[in-house]
Amino acid sequence: MKIDQIRVIPLVENPPVGGWPQGQLPARNEYTLLEVGTDEGVFGLGSVYTSARLTEAAVELLRPLWEGEIAIEPVRVSEKLHQSTFWQGRGGTVTHAISGIDIALWDIFGQVTGQPVGRLLGGCYRDRIKPYASLSMGHERFVAHMEEALARGFKAVKIGWGPFGRESRRRDEELVRLARETLGADVELMVDPGASGRYWAHGYKWALETAKMLCEYDVTWFEEPLRPDDMQGYIKLAENAPLPITGCEVLTRRQSFMPWIENRAIDFIQPDLTKVGGLTEGLRIAQHAYDHSIMTIAHGWNTAVGLAADMQLMAALPTARWVEYKTPSPFIDELLPAPLPIDEEGFVPIPSAPGLGVAWDRDGVEKLSGMRLSN
Ligand SMILES: [Mg+2]
Repeated sequence: MKIDQIRVIPLVENPPVGGWPQGQLPARNEYTLLEVGTDEGVFGLGSVYTSARLTEAAVELLRPLWEGEIAIEPVRVSEKLHQSTFWQGRGGTVTHAISGIDIALWDIFGQVTGQPVGRLLGGCYRDRIKPYASLSMGHERFVAHMEEALARGFKAVKIGWGPFGRESRRRDEELVRLARETLGADVELMVDPGASGRYWAHGYKWALETAKMLCEYDVTWFEEPLRPDDMQGYIKLAENAPLPITGCEVLTRRQSFMPWIENRAIDFIQPDLTKVGGLTEGLRIAQHAYDHSIMTIAHGWNTAVGLAADMQLMAALPTARWVEYKTPSPFIDELLPAPLPIDEEGFVPIPSAPGLGVAWDRDGVEKLSGMRLSN
């Protein structure tokens, strides 16, 4: 079975019916689906955390490397793509695009063998996982979004970005107190100021003092409290903070994660499967982290396809506990035929059907992209 086509599917709200004319892709699109087709009519779907324009350029650059390749050998094909592009786009657009190709190849491998990807990654340690509702904080719908997450059955909520760390310490604590009061004592609460946002103003001492405050509200982890390149700051913080420190969502390629893991710069590590190189790279990062007692929380949250890939990886890791679930989000909600059912303990089932295991909402894909899936 050979790869014979790759289609790039831009995701935006309200696209033109029938997709975009050649060369007129939308300026504002952050998330892109990528469909790999084979000469035997099997199609796999992947997700890329970057724009369709960049993804299209990378897919064309890579064409001589993927065209005609064996479609059921994701690990070898992805490594070939990485190894052949050392001098161009490495770690950036090309790595992002390989992420989508890799996820789609695993999806194909699963469909062809009749197995869920988690089993093909080595075996399924679990058949359910606890999703945390990932929502932004400090806006007028902040409390409403938390209440909606509770009503849906989430037992874990992460509040992120917004004014946290950008106005005052008092404001930070008010937001956390409001979240804890809204969620009650039994729902896990995570806090993510998003220090990968531009011009982040704080360093180690702010992060350490804020970590102590978060502990008073029984916060489960403190995510991206320092600039994403400040590894020395993270090393000190992970050693001295009274709660787990998480991060690394912006890194790409397994090699970039190695010093973070080997220097114990982080307690929980968050590779984004739609950026790092896909499931193949994510598995290697997660296994390296596991061997250093660092747990992985995959970060493919930007689309339902990324979420599905995350869940398959989480199935195949010995110590996984959570998966990020952005809510509300059209790129999650519209691509799934129905919301994932959340059980009484706040867990969702990990799909066990072949491939990524999800029957996509084909009309939803068309609504967000203007394009139809091939099958
Ligand atoms: Mg984050």
